[in-house]
Formats: sequence, C-alpha cells, structure tokens
Amino acid sequence: MASSTSYNPPCAACKFLRRKCILGCVFSPHFPPEEALRFANVHKVFGASNVAKLLNELLPHQRAAAASSLAYEAEARVRDPVHGCTGEISFLQRQVDRLQRELDAANAVLVWFACNDVVSLEAAGRSNVGLGGGGGRFYQIGGLPISYDVPWNDIYNCHGGGMDGSN
Ligand SMILES: [Zn+2]
Repeated sequence: MASSTSYNPPCAACKFLRRKCILGCVFSPHFPPEEALRFANVHKVFGASNVAKLLNELLPHQRAAAASSLAYEAEARVRDPVHGCTGEISFLQRQVDRLQRELDAANAVLVWFACNDVVSLEAAGRSNVGLGGGGGRFYQIGGLPISYDVPWNDIYNCHGGGMDGSN
C-alpha cells in the first residue's frame, strides 16, 4: 500500500492537471502545491501547455521571473477581463501624471516665494509661513527657523524669469 519513500505532494500544476509530478517538472519550482489558485489563473488565461513551452524555452534563472509575471498578469486578467494589467498600469500612470503636475505646481509656488520677498506677509501678521527671499530658512509661528536646502537655485534664475518659466 504505502511506500516507504517520502511523499512529495504534486505541484499545483500537476495536481490541477491530475497528472504525476515527475522529478524536474517545469512547473514545480514556481507553482508549489499551496498555490493552486495561482496556477488555476495562469492556466485559465494562458493555458498550461503554452506556459510549459514558454518556461522550457527560457534559461533556468529566468523562469521564476517569467512565472511571477505570468501569475500577476493572469490574476489581473481574471479580476479585470477587459483591461487586465494594462488597466492597473493606466491607473498608476494617471496617478504618476497627477502627482507630477502637483509637484510641478508646488515647485512653481516655491520658486515664486523664493523669487519674491515675502517678508511683507510676515509683517502683515497673517501668515504662519514665510520664506526668505534668498531661501535658507523656514519660519513657523513661535518656532525657531528651520534651515533647508534650496535645490532650485541651481536650476532657476530667480530674477530672470517668472512663475510661467519664461526667461
Ligand atoms: Zn509538477
């Protein structure tokens, strides 16, 4: 009945495909038995034979990355059948673009403050934040000045251009 040799459970692929997991199974290192859903998604989207063919064509050290990528793409495709991972990429790209615009706007404001002496705001007693014209200190209400670097000094000519970047 039971053999005396140690029992190695079949990998997720061989278990799913109901076949014997042989020594050197190309799926085994990348689809362990406990990741059945991972392989099921890959099989559903790409097909087990295509994945086996692809993994066999790769060098051994490239297979883990390929399997990981296939699993990621398959999961995304199962979650979003229309867009797959391109939907996530588009979402992240829009987020990067939006954050870049916010960063550009914040930098433009910083340049404006650096280029225009805003001591008058402090004199008005309404502002809790002021930057010196040459940069170098950041004031808080009742606090000590905090020194900071002004990276734009090397990039912008403060007295030669405006906020719109024209010189
Ligand atoms: Zn196997």
